[in-house]
Amino acid sequence: MESYRLKSREILLDASYDVIVIGGGPAGCTAAASAAREGAKTLLIEGTSGLGGMGTSALVPAWCPFSDKEKLVYRGLAQKVFETLKSRMPHVKPDAMDWVPIEPEKLKVVYDELVTEAGADVLFLTSLADVETDEQGNITVIVVLNKGGLQAYRAQVYVDCTGDGDLAAWAGAEVRKGDGASGDLQPATHCFILGNVDDYAYLNGPLLHKENPHSPIHEAVASGRYPGVPDTHLCNNQIAPRAVGFNAGHLWGVDNTDPRSVSKALIRGRKMASDYLDMLGDIHPAAFAGAYVASTGTLMGTRESRRIIGDYVLTVDDYVSRRSFEDEICRNSYFIDVHGTEKEEKSEAGSSQTVTLYGPGESHGIPYRCLTPRGLRNVLVAGRSISCERQVLGSVRVMPVCLAMGEAAGMAASHAASGGGDVHRVDVSRLRRRLREEGAYLPELSAAVNEQGGVR
Ligand SMILES: Cc1cc2nc3c(=O)[nH]c(=O)nc-3n(C[C@H](O)[C@H](O)[C@H](O)COP(=O)(O)OP(=O)(O)OC[C@H]3O[C@@H](n4cnc5c(N)ncnc54)[C@H](O)[C@@H]3O)c2cc1C
Repeated sequence: MESYRLKSREILLDASYDVIVIGGGPAGCTAAASAAREGAKTLLIEGTSGLGGMGTSALVPAWCPFSDKEKLVYRGLAQKVFETLKSRMPHVKPDAMDWVPIEPEKLKVVYDELVTEAGADVLFLTSLADVETDEQGNITVIVVLNKGGLQAYRAQVYVDCTGDGDLAAWAGAEVRKGDGASGDLQPATHCFILGNVDDYAYLNGPLLHKENPHSPIHEAVASGRYPGVPDTHLCNNQIAPRAVGFNAGHLWGVDNTDPRSVSKALIRGRKMASDYLDMLGDIHPAAFAGAYVASTGTLMGTRESRRIIGDYVLTVDDYVSRRSFEDEICRNSYFIDVHGTEKEEKSEAGSSQTVTLYGPGESHGIPYRCLTPRGLRNVLVAGRSISCERQVLGSVRVMPVCLAMGEAAGMAASHAASGGGDVHRVDVSRLRRRLREEGAYLPELSAAVNEQGGVR
């Protein structure tokens, strides 16, 4: 491509906010609510017309477990979001904690309420367009694009919750993508909802998930009759009466930070939803013969893109050791869930690289330092692009964890904003105390914290 030098010109600048959060997925919603609740004048900027990210606009149909098989691990604002949505979905049992379905339009409203009731402003249909920095690693201004054209915003502290690390990367943070060697990313999935499903037949018919060796998906894919159905990945949840949400099939080679790549994938993914409908009508006609594609995601279901390099990189060893950290801001008990390459997923074993290691009650800590990009002074990152090894991302990327780390990031942003703007100098003891006061699950650390800041 050729390059083009923009003509310099003046645009409007709003410098009235203390904290600006970019991206209103699970991490961004709790970050904005938490920053505002902590007293910061806060703006949440979201590219789509609704909050929730992958869980609403990409139609991911269920929450990963909120429990460590003994108790709720993701508390505070995470618990509030989870419990509020459950209370508005009559078919969900109030005490359900694991793999609870999501009705996306209801979840959008839960997030709207969370953010606005905390006092944050929201700007929808607004995308980050550019970032300017100074030599000390401060973002001095961000430029956004919406129907008002280009506008500039300036805050004390910024929280990158884009899931792709857009803000941090554009500000010059060091990032990693995929496995580093081949650049392989976890495949994407374009989720969809089928409407007019026969509830009785669906709930009493065969378990469709590929983990069920008797699921008809295995025979259907092996038969070669459905070339549009790429593999046996077939998670599904009843999200509302006569409506089933699907997280099904993989799209390989999709890079959410490359607009051409993601555009092609959206076209392919929309077509795939019809291919799944046809197949499901054949393999389970009692449930799906009268069904139709009610909706496909407006966002591509992206499991992996950029990870920032922060003051600490959470490692597989930390995960395996169930390590605790002096500066941990939440706990995580989800298994490592890395969806495989095309070859792996299409092999007999059909293997995502899944490591289910933790027993009941077990978890590890996520240090605050995973949220602070090295080399940037007034920027925090929360959600899918925190600083961790790739395998660990397979665990910490899921929504309950993103909600918990978002709350911590927003609170830290507020503290940093009132203390000179340096996120690396936040008083982490105060942060942890305040998170606990707001209900976060942060067990007391044992006395044996070692020199690396970790205990087993
Ligand atoms: C197919 C699939 C299945 C999954 N299954 C589950 C599951 O069953 N349970 C579970 O708990 N988790 C699941 N996950 C993981 C989880 O949904 C995501 O990892 C999680 O939502 C990440 O949260 P986030 O807040 O970091 O980012 P996201 O949810 O990706 O939200 C980012 C938000 O930022 C906005 N944004 C991005 N860039 C910009 C920009 N430049 N300017 C303005 N706005 C921007 C986006 O529009 C979006 O709203 C799944 C993910 C995928 C893709």
